[in-house]
Amino acid sequence: MGETGPGFDGPRVERAVREILDALGVEGLEDTPGRVAGAYAHLFRGLREDPLRHLEVSFDEGARDLVLMRDVPFVALCEHHLLPMIGRAHVAYLPAGRVLGFSEIVRLVEGYAARPQLQERLTAQVADALHGGLGSRGSMVVAEAEHTCMAATGAWRPGTTAATSAARGIFEEDPARRAEVAAMLSTGS
Ligand SMILES: [Zn+2]
Repeated sequence: MGETGPGFDGPRVERAVREILDALGVEGLEDTPGRVAGAYAHLFRGLREDPLRHLEVSFDEGARDLVLMRDVPFVALCEHHLLPMIGRAHVAYLPAGRVLGFSEIVRLVEGYAARPQLQERLTAQVADALHGGLGSRGSMVVAEAEHTCMAATGAWRPGTTAATSAARGIFEEDPARRAEVAAMLSTGS
């Protein structure tokens, strides 16, 4: 699940989509399989990259104070239905000297989102990368997303969102540190 296999085989995806359309009894739509393959190449690009490589662009600034990035958008296909979950992540970490560029934080979230995903796992992966991967004192990630698979099947009302959080290091150990992140998030909305 969500693991890196052989490279992306666009023509094969195209044939498979054509097969689904045939199975549905849908005729025409000549260009749709190619478009779906193009969309999948983008939505699953994270399978062919290790998002941890974005941590290479970090600097030792002797930083010790909280860094919080709010509303980092993401689109990921849920691994149960291959339908999009569309959301945003709030990403916080407490440096142990080393900081990561803000655009790299965005790429980290996008890299983990671009594969068959679960929101819980995506949240945990970003938190793990910013703690163990970066070597910070701790990290905390809060994600909110609408799951179109749930909305489309009527299981959820459109507009319902799920929230997940992951705390590592000092944020896992110290409720006051988690409260600090929550306070900063609430001032932004
Ligand atoms: Zn789903």
